[in-house]
Amino acid sequence: MIRYKQIQKTIEEPDAVICDVCKREYAADALEIQEFHHVKFIGGYESVFGDGTQVECDICQHCLKKFIGEHCRKTDGAQSESGGFWPPGPTP
Ligand SMILES: [Zn+2]
Repeated sequence: MIRYKQIQKTIEEPDAVICDVCKREYAADALEIQEFHHVKFIGGYESVFGDGTQVECDICQHCLKKFIGEHCRKTDGAQSESGGFWPPGPTP
């Protein structure tokens, strides 16, 4: 038999999301944070970030648009043949 006791614990929950580029802070319950992009990867061999380097960055949609807005391909994701996976599937 295990007897349990009641205790109180403090937990952490997101309060805000801060863009690493513009430093703007968004409340955790703001719809805007659904459009944040979180980059997290480990650099591979010959990575410009360094082999084995952990890279993380949280970028708001406004800064991302400044970086890639003129270079990215924009389509309606619901009509995408590949469903957004890479590499894309064959095109008919
Ligand atoms: Zn930003």
